[in-house]
Amino acid sequence: MKRDYIVVGLGIAGLTFCEQLKKNNKSFVVFDSGKYTSTLVSAGVINPVVLKRFTPVWNAKEHVESSIQFYKKLSQKLGVSLFEEMPMLRIFKSNEEQNNWMVASDKVELTEFLVPKIIKNNQASINAPFGFGKVKSTGRVNPIQLIQLYKEYLQKSNQFRNEKFEYEKLNEEENTIFYKDIMAKKIVFSEGYSAKDNPYFPQNIKDHQEQLIIKNKGEYIIIKAPDLKLDAMLKTSLFIIPLGNDLYKVGATYDREDDTITTTHSAKTELISKLTKILTCPFEVVDQVAGIRPTTRDRRPFLGTLNKSNHIVFFNGLGTRGITSAPSLSIQLYNFIEYGKKLPKEINIKRHYKW
Ligand SMILES: Cc1cc2nc3c(=O)[nH]c(=O)nc-3n(C[C@H](O)[C@H](O)[C@H](O)COP(=O)(O)OP(=O)(O)OC[C@H]3O[C@@H](n4cnc5c(N)ncnc54)[C@H](O)[C@@H]3O)c2cc1C
Repeated sequence: MKRDYIVVGLGIAGLTFCEQLKKNNKSFVVFDSGKYTSTLVSAGVINPVVLKRFTPVWNAKEHVESSIQFYKKLSQKLGVSLFEEMPMLRIFKSNEEQNNWMVASDKVELTEFLVPKIIKNNQASINAPFGFGKVKSTGRVNPIQLIQLYKEYLQKSNQFRNEKFEYEKLNEEENTIFYKDIMAKKIVFSEGYSAKDNPYFPQNIKDHQEQLIIKNKGEYIIIKAPDLKLDAMLKTSLFIIPLGNDLYKVGATYDREDDTITTTHSAKTELISKLTKILTCPFEVVDQVAGIRPTTRDRRPFLGTLNKSNHIVFFNGLGTRGITSAPSLSIQLYNFIEYGKKLPKEINIKRHYKW
């Protein structure tokens, strides 16, 4: 069968790219085997501010606006609310942090995101004697529901194959991609950390042992805390994210050594230890999840094609904030492929040739 595109991987990169294809009436088929899904594990938080340093995240305005619009539109299309606006509160540790917040909220690039006041803590279940700072334009996507519904949506039109893509069966001849029974004009690889198994993806940086996609394992615990009654996301040394029904996602950890997706006792202990310093109410750990963030040495994604082929395209390296950045990046990638619009150097995969 003939298709315009094959897409490999239905995490947030693949999903947002499929939406570009749908919007532009391109035919395609997606492969996903359900392994190493960073998107499913993520908390789905959309937040424009680095809350450790009170600085804007990379392309904050563009990425946040574009992602909120994207998830709202997709919710309408799929008939389910996938995005919830939810305030983010940063717990202050000292008077100095309160002052830093007020200074930051006066900066041009942050005025629209930081509320310039110190909010008092009225909740006995939270230990926050210095109060909170509130961030605007924040919210949460439900990634599990998002991926599941989107898969079902694609299945209805026979656009999804629940199988592992076998790289050795891919051929490129005379500007056409051949894979099993499919002939396509282009193939887009969006496999997150699993790009490590893709022979078409550049693995190591020239003359280095360093991998192009750097693993960064993250774990969350899910707790039940009936007395917490929190309706905002909280950030201190970790995030506490309300999931409803007295459940909260708490994390995450960062580990650059382990590339398994098994949950660990050490991560659980670390998270519980941090959490007991913040909560004064009882809680019970009911679950734990782990995933691998596909990060890069310069914290920018890898988009576009390599010198070898214009038909083999990559959308990877979304790092720690893919839920936020993917909607906007997918538009840039589509415009690059279909209209030849140049990709900014900082996100173009070709920059790795210089490393
Ligand atoms: C603990 C944690 C918390 C996070 N929290 C946030 C957050 O709050 N906000 C935010 O913006 N970002 C967050 N992130 C980052 C975000 O999750 C990632 O940037 C993003 O999910 C990466 O998406 P992706 O599509 O590139 O990869 P993935 O989500 O990993 O998707 C890749 C897909 O490819 C498939 N695949 C791979 N190889 C093959 C193959 N050979 N054949 C078929 N299918 C294949 C896999 O099954 C998978 O579904 C978090 C990440 C982690 C781990």
